[in-house]
Amino acid sequence: MFTRKIGIDLGTANTIVFVPGKGFIINEPTIVALSLPENAVLAVGREAKDMIGRTPEDIAAYRPLKDKESGAKEVYLVKEPILAALGAGIPINAHHGNMIVNIGGGTSEVAVVSLGGIVSWASLRVAGNKSDQAIMDYIKKKYSLSIGEQTAEQVKIQIGSALPIKQKLEFQLRGRDLMSGLPKDVTVTSNEIAEALNPLLFDITASVRNVFNETPPELVADIMEKGIILSGGGAQLRHLDEFFGRALGVATYVAEEPLYCVAKGTGLILNHIDTYKRTLLNKR
Ligand code: ADP
Ligand code: MG
Repeated sequence: MFTRKIGIDLGTANTIVFVPGKGFIINEPTIVALSLPENAVLAVGREAKDMIGRTPEDIAAYRPLKDKESGAKEVYLVKEPILAALGAGIPINAHHGNMIVNIGGGTSEVAVVSLGGIVSWASLRVAGNKSDQAIMDYIKKKYSLSIGEQTAEQVKIQIGSALPIKQKLEFQLRGRDLMSGLPKDVTVTSNEIAEALNPLLFDITASVRNVFNETPPELVADIMEKGIILSGGGAQLRHLDEFFGRALGVATYVAEEPLYCVAKGTGLILNHIDTYKRTLLNKR
């Protein structure tokens, strides 16, 4: 019989589809643009993302999964942190503990994985989207400048940092002056972005501490020895590993290709279903 395996990471920000033997066949923003009068889909993915903040009143571009849990039918379901851990190269079936912190668009997950399962975990709605919002709020307060979500995300990616840096980077922002209502340019630095993101990073740090508190001491000792692994698009923020390292006193490392960890994890599971039997939740 002809069977086709397909792994899907339906993220709040990005959707990545993996086919064994072929690799990643889709990597697009999880966004749809709807024409409201006709209730019809105008665009999906990257094309729809480019419409955000630029749509006339009768077009709505939105993230259907923002802050929501993703699900699927007629498939194996695997908890996301397990996939992230697998895709980050963590031997999830080993009897020692590993901690993965996956920072996506809508949510961040913190999990301790051991013997193919999750021992302790937390999920919080503090991740990429809230970071963009925090940058927008910061710029508004400091410079009376209103900028869009897309611009905020661009600033975060191009110059954002979790810690102040000596060789700070700069970005010229264009927005609307809230006083005059006219366009205005402001130059911001990576250190200002670090300041804007600081409260959110402390929220994530607090969640990691809570997870440590609920983790058996032997596994805590394993994590102290091996460190914390970061995955998800948000893990690409400059100096985030160093930020957590200092805040928690535990060495922290960013996984290779953090944005693809979950999708890679689906690929590993599909290619070795027997090895990861215990990890598969259900097959409907
Ligand atoms: P999800 O799994 O929820 O779809 P992803 O793991 O795809 O999320 O991560 C998407 C998030 O990563 C977005 O909020 C995006 O802004 C953020 N991101 C991407 N690149 C960077 C970067 N270089 N620095 C900080 N954040 C980034
Ligand atoms: Mg994700």
